[in-house]
Amino acid sequence: MAEEVKEGKDFTLEADSELRFEIEDKDAKVYVMLISGFAEMFGTELVKKKKYEFRTGAKVAVFTYHGCVLNVNGKTDVSYISKETPMVQYLNCHAALEQMRASAEEKDERGPIAMVVGPLDVGKSTLCRIFLNYAVRLGRRPLYADIDVGQGAISIPGGLLVSKLTDSFSWSGLLVSKKEFSQKPLLVYHFGHKSPGSNNVLYKSTVSKMAEVTLESMNVNKRTKYSGIILNTCGWVKGDGYAHLLHTAQAFEVNAIFVLDQERLYNELLRDMPSFVRVVLLPKSGGVVERSRDLRNEQRDLRIKEYFYGHRTPFYPFSFEVKFQDLKLYKIGAPPLPDSCMPIGMKAEDNKTKVVAVTPSPSLLHHILAISFAETTDEDVIGTNVAGFVCVTDVDMERQTITVLSPQPRPLPNNVLLLSELQFMDIV
Ligand code: ADP
Repeated sequence: MAEEVKEGKDFTLEADSELRFEIEDKDAKVYVMLISGFAEMFGTELVKKKKYEFRTGAKVAVFTYHGCVLNVNGKTDVSYISKETPMVQYLNCHAALEQMRASAEEKDERGPIAMVVGPLDVGKSTLCRIFLNYAVRLGRRPLYADIDVGQGAISIPGGLLVSKLTDSFSWSGLLVSKKEFSQKPLLVYHFGHKSPGSNNVLYKSTVSKMAEVTLESMNVNKRTKYSGIILNTCGWVKGDGYAHLLHTAQAFEVNAIFVLDQERLYNELLRDMPSFVRVVLLPKSGGVVERSRDLRNEQRDLRIKEYFYGHRTPFYPFSFEVKFQDLKLYKIGAPPLPDSCMPIGMKAEDNKTKVVAVTPSPSLLHHILAISFAETTDEDVIGTNVAGFVCVTDVDMERQTITVLSPQPRPLPNNVLLLSELQFMDIV
């Protein structure tokens, strides 16, 4: 039953407890204000007397280490105080990461490269967010890498991302920075599928390339080098999914792994990781909300919509035509052929990373296209990051044009475009 909170309601929280709430009603808004004490939301400290606004779909926990009073104004669907939270354990892990950073600084070495793993809906993105916020609050500037192509916390679905953090880390701040192409702090790679399993070979190559570039970039700035990386992963942890985790750990030269909520995965990693990698098992928070497949799809669509239209700060995307002749359109991965049909020296696997020209046709409608920085296809298209994404909103075969929705006005920064399997219906 929805709970109507009139004129705001005060919640008194004891030390080490959190207020959790969800907003499901369409167009509902809820305001939270810290009246007294100290509180934080996923690692971000709340400012006293400031009104924080939350909207439909929000699933929030406001935690306090020392006790506080919060005022909540608006209609929440669920709201309760919980004293059972793993926050103290998460804080201890942050302290361990901080020790690794201090030691890295002393020895002029790379700081912690920490990977967060676990099945779906265990709070991986939330834990990354907490680690990043705690680090930033101490003046650190870790990199955030997100290789969850389906439900990445900030990357557009189908993309992999590395982000530099600015002065204060804010999730939505990173979304905002997508309003223009080629934002410097973001390094985005095209994968083009909702799940790594759609093209395991391509996923692996993309992660390898991304890791190589990221590790190299760390040497440029000492602060980043000591601060390290927080790496978020997919919830696919069995079979090939597990193999991807092992490969990612190796490619990024990970030295700490936080396993959320799965003892089996924890034991497998203990067995398979070299001894210098610290593997830590952590409980999931009881507050983490499980999502149905439908909700997952809905959230994926929403993320694409936010890419073009913004989240809190609205963006106004542009729409323009591009002539077929001005497009160099490709997709990655050719249909599988048996080894016996492959040219000498090539394996069927090579087909999976082949760059194949695509002739524009009505089937492009609604598809997302990634704008590659590659000048030609002779260049390493998979290993080259992308400037951003557009969505095809019309294909005119007569006039030989496509219309695209784009965060930036024409012209496109490059005409090498990569077709994604992901689609978005532009209905605002
Ligand atoms: P995962 O990355 O493992 O899929 P998320 O970190 O995205 O999981 O968490 C799923 C949802 O649960 C998110 O909407 C997040 O805001 C919410 N959530 C996480 N921790 C809590 C908590 N302690 N209380 C309430 N909601 C939470």
